[in-house]
Amino acid sequence: MSAELAYAGAAELARRVRAREVSAVELTDAFLARIDAHDGALGAYLAVDHEGARNRALIVDAMIAAGQDPGPLAGVPVGVKDVIVTEGLVTTAASRILDGWVPPYDATAVARLRAAGAIVLGKLNCDEFAMGSSNERSGYRPCQNPWDLGRVPGGSSGGSAAAVAAGLAAATLGTDTGGSIRQPAAFCGVVGLKPTYGRVSRWGAIAFASSLDQIGPLAGSVEDCALLLEVIAGADPRDATSIDQPAPSLRPALTAGVAGLKVGLPREYFEGALDPEVAAAVRAAGDALVTAGAELREVTLPHTRFALPAYYVVAPAEAASNLARYDGVRFGHRGGGRELAEMYATTRAEGFGPEVKRRIMIGTYALRAGHYEAYYRKAQQVRALIKRDFDQAFEEVDVLLTPTTPTAAFARGEKAAPLDMYLADVFTLACNLAGIPGLAVPVGATASGLPIGAQLLGRALDEVTLVRAGAELERAFGTRRPPAYEGAA
Ligand code: GLN
Repeated sequence: MSAELAYAGAAELARRVRAREVSAVELTDAFLARIDAHDGALGAYLAVDHEGARNRALIVDAMIAAGQDPGPLAGVPVGVKDVIVTEGLVTTAASRILDGWVPPYDATAVARLRAAGAIVLGKLNCDEFAMGSSNERSGYRPCQNPWDLGRVPGGSSGGSAAAVAAGLAAATLGTDTGGSIRQPAAFCGVVGLKPTYGRVSRWGAIAFASSLDQIGPLAGSVEDCALLLEVIAGADPRDATSIDQPAPSLRPALTAGVAGLKVGLPREYFEGALDPEVAAAVRAAGDALVTAGAELREVTLPHTRFALPAYYVVAPAEAASNLARYDGVRFGHRGGGRELAEMYATTRAEGFGPEVKRRIMIGTYALRAGHYEAYYRKAQQVRALIKRDFDQAFEEVDVLLTPTTPTAAFARGEKAAPLDMYLADVFTLACNLAGIPGLAVPVGATASGLPIGAQLLGRALDEVTLVRAGAELERAFGTRRPPAYEGAA
């Protein structure tokens, strides 16, 4: 397949399938061939569903032949992060503790993708239970950055970002608890959208920290992220925290421009350990918005420095509660028929990796009788202050522009100390604590050619403004692709 098809994008591929310029089977086979050719070295996928994908594609083609419309993602090959369950397709959250588990149902977001005509190619690599920022904490294998195989793709949705960047999926789903969509999107030079908390149903997303987790799209363009969110968003009776609002109409905002838009630069996001090349790129992004008619203002979010400590109490506390269900009995293994006791022992031996254990220890400690007031409750109070900072800023401006990450993609093994790794998300965590939406968009590269991502943060339920501003940045900075994957499969 020509790389042109691999990078044509979801909206354009659906258009071609519906216009019968290409069949869903041809597209699916072509993407599967690219995965077979490239993914051995890259590590974006944990499971590839050759047969299932082909069967779905046949159905889409049959619908088209019968004059039916398969939907806005007709025949579009997508990948799904392995913390999101898929019926009949192995789902492990990149953890040995779920090795071989085949879910009996689809997550709501996956069901909605399929109902819109999308073809699920397989399950994407990530950090175990979405805990990490580099994909090095996968229980199976690391995923590399397609721009430089010696560097990490970011995490936890590293596979979701790398697959899009390498043209091994037209678009993907990730999850974002503290930055796991936006940070890998920035490291891999793709677009990543973390929706408002509750915008997308979490039914079928394996829980990490339930008050922070959110499913969202990664893709090669703002348009494709908007299209995917339109498909997966909306109330779901199976998730009590899903917001009772219809899916937003986002694509009209792509061409709305930014004339008159008030853009805030939060002072606290340009201080401290911010790489000068990243700072310069984000300031240039601000200038581009001004050139296009926006107004730029400095704003302050005074509690920003408390976001990281608050997150690392709230997230582990909720994780410790959520992960108690993996006692080795309820979620089974391949090769059934083994004695339960033996299965239990095996599960424990091959169980949680060190980062997951660390989170469970911290979370359990924070929730212990006598500690709750000092830690979890205090963290929730800080969380309220962080949210108030955003509320006040959004009285002055419509959207915030910040760096997504303090640096471009770092080298494998570079952040061995847990706190160093946690700091990779210092600019993305507050968004989850406040429940607001965030969009990472490529805004150029470092002198050594690594992608840099800007982050746009918006009011709750105002993804439209993120799409408006994000599309403007895309027009200003264009899209780049990692050269090694530009050729035919
Ligand atoms: N890197 C952060 C963590 O390890 C965020 C992860 C995420 O968003 N899932 O918790």
